[in-house]
This record gives sequence, C-alpha cells and structure tokens, in this order.
Amino acid sequence: MTAMSPLIPVDEVIATLLADAVPSRDVQEVSISICVGHVLAEDMVAGINVPPVANSSMDGYAFNCEDAEIAIGSICRISDRIAAGTVGAPLTRGTVARIFTGAPVPEGANAVVMQEDTEPVDDDHIKLIKLPVQGENVRVAGQDIERGALILARGRRIKPQDAALMASVGVAAVPVMRPLRVAVMSTGDELVDPPGPLAPGQIFNSNHYALIGLIRNLGMEVVDLGLVPDDLNSTEVALRRGASQADCIVSSGGVSVGEEDHVKAALEKLGDLALWRIAIKPGKPLAFGQIEGIPFFGLPGNPVSTFVTFTMIARPYLLKMQGCSDLLPRPIYANAAFELEPGGRREYVRVRLETTRDGDLNATAYGNQGSGVMSSVVWADALAEVDIGQSVRYGDRLKVFLIDH
Ligand code: AMP
Ligand code: MG
Repeated sequence: MTAMSPLIPVDEVIATLLADAVPSRDVQEVSISICVGHVLAEDMVAGINVPPVANSSMDGYAFNCEDAEIAIGSICRISDRIAAGTVGAPLTRGTVARIFTGAPVPEGANAVVMQEDTEPVDDDHIKLIKLPVQGENVRVAGQDIERGALILARGRRIKPQDAALMASVGVAAVPVMRPLRVAVMSTGDELVDPPGPLAPGQIFNSNHYALIGLIRNLGMEVVDLGLVPDDLNSTEVALRRGASQADCIVSSGGVSVGEEDHVKAALEKLGDLALWRIAIKPGKPLAFGQIEGIPFFGLPGNPVSTFVTFTMIARPYLLKMQGCSDLLPRPIYANAAFELEPGGRREYVRVRLETTRDGDLNATAYGNQGSGVMSSVVWADALAEVDIGQSVRYGDRLKVFLIDH
C-alpha cells in the first residue's frame, strides 16, 4: 500500500483546467431568428439611434409648450393627424396635431398631452384640460440606444432579450461561435440502455441521458458514442471516433481507484491522462487528458457524482472552449435548514430553496445525500456549497448554486 496523495482542492482543479482550455475560433453567421443560445463572436455596436427619432409614448395631441396661444382651457384646432409609421407636417402655431403611440413627434412640437387630458369640442377642435411640461410623453431619439454604443459584448450567450436588442438596431445576421461538438460515452459492463431487458446484475445507463441534456442545454452539439464495453479495444475505438468527430470528449465511469480501467490504459496509449483525486463530494476521482489534441474528461460513474462534477468542473472548461466570457456558476445565498459535520472534502449538498414569511431564503437538504441517489438532484433546486472543515448549523449562511442556471 502506498500513501494516498492529498486531495486537490476544487478551485485549484478549476484554475488548472481553465488555464488549459483553448477557446475555439470557429465563427459562423446565423439568422437573428435562431441566434438565441449561441455565443456571440463579436462585439455588437449600434449603427442607429433607438428610437431613430422622437416619438409619442401616448395617444394624444402634440403641441409646443412655448406656444403663447396654448394654455389650460384653450380650444385648439387639430391641424394634422399622425399615425405610427407616418411623418406629420411641421406644426402650425396655435394648433395641435392628433398623434398616436409610436408616431414621430412633428417638427415644432415638444410635448404630447394625453387624450384623457383633453375634451372633444368638434371634429376639428379640442379643449385642453391639463398642460404637460416640455418633453412630457415624448420618447427622445436614442433614449434606448445611442448610435455607436456597444450593445452586447462578444462571449455572451445570447438571450431572447439580446436578440430583441440586436433586431432593434437592424441586425439580421449574427456572428456566433460554431457550437462546440462534445462526444459523450458511458463505460461499464453492468450498463444497459433502456428499455433493456436487464439481466441479473445489470443496471440501466442513466448518466448518458443527463450528460447529453446538460451539454445541449449549453447550446452545444452531442456526438453520441453510446455505451462502451469495459474492454481496451472498444474503448480505443470509441475514443478515436470521439477525437475525430468532436472538440471534446466526456465519459462517465471507470475512473475509480482500483478499477480495471480501460479508459486509463487506452488514453495512455493514444494520448495522455491524469487521474485526479479531488476534494469534492460527491465525485472524488476525475480523469483529464487529451487524445490527438482533443481534451478528455473522465467523470466518476455514480450518477450524482457525474452530475455534480460536470456542473462544477467540466462545464466551465467547455464554456471557455466555446468562447463564453461568463464561465463560473453564479452563487446566491440561503440559510441552512439542515446541519452537517465538518468533512475533508468540499461538499455539494442537494437542497431545495424556500422563501420564508420574512423573505429569507431557506435551504433544506434532501434526506439521502448518497452519490447514487439521483432522486436528490431531481428533488433539489440547488447545490449548497459546504467547504472543507466547515460545519453547518441551522441558520448558517450558505453559498448555493441554482441547478440549470
Ligand atoms: P465507476 O465510476 O465506473 O466505478 O462507477 C461507479 C458507480 O456508478 C457504479 O455503481 C456504477 O454501476 C455506476 N455507474 C457508472 N456509470 C453509470 C451510468 N452510465 N449510469 C448509471 N450508473 C452508472
Ligand atoms: Mg465502471
């Protein structure tokens, strides 16, 4: 028996990995209608003001505040009618122009009185009940976006609201990073894909379906290497296929200490591999290496370990390869509604978040925190981070990471 090397802290592993990750440079253009979920490849600068010209925010009457002929109680002639999408004539002194929401404010006008603050007199005249101040109910040119402004920075994963912002300055084709292709394989002779049948001693392959979903949720493409039997030849064939078709390979299982480990043997033959013992619970063993220049992650096989190590460790790496600027999950804070004795590994406790009547956020832990209990992840809203040596008492403030964020 050799002495076990010390466990590597999670943050150190992430830092090492991020230093290794090389952002892809493959850029493509996609239509604005399908850009959401892609990563923006260039800074987006506005070519126009939004709105392009001053327009009315109300249905009402445009007038000039400095017009001495206009006062509360005045009866004014309606000299024009300006619908959205049309341009009115310059405003005549002493008159108002009928105007609709979104229509350009005519030259010579500087405020809009809302319809509700007027009284009809006849078809061509209204009486003013209130008199707005200059600029009231007018949306000035460029109030949303000024021409030349940086509206979105490269590296951002495009959200629906971002697509709206780009469309509002007239962008039709969006420069995005080509979605990363991630090969996924599951190892283990005990595994069978649903629907089976299950022979004695076998279990269903479940990790595969979490991994392909997690990867697709990042806007990446999956290269499905399927279920790979525990033998050297099949493992080599699968890894070579992954290396030729994908930008990165993620596997689950077969990295525990003492395992009859073909992933390790195959990678040592085809590329290189480091087996890490990480101070993380669940998910201590993790393999990282490369085959023909393609990075390889060997995640631990227990389903919760696979989920947690993917989320906390592999995900930031993949996001960096994808060209994203926001790599690490963003924590929120909640009060512990459970207790935990200090441990030697950073633990990610599956918790459900509840808002109390006082507006606090409480984190309740799932009863069985076993690394094979996938129900805990399904039940939970978040992973609560408990550091090495940290004891948790009721009410302690905890860092939590929302699942699926
Ligand atoms: P391993 O890391 O291969 O030693 O696997 C650890 C545990 O996770 C064992 O109980 C395996 O049966 C289980 N396991 C490994 N891969 C999968 C998978 N794809 N789906 C479900 N369970 C798995
Ligand atoms: Mg195995």
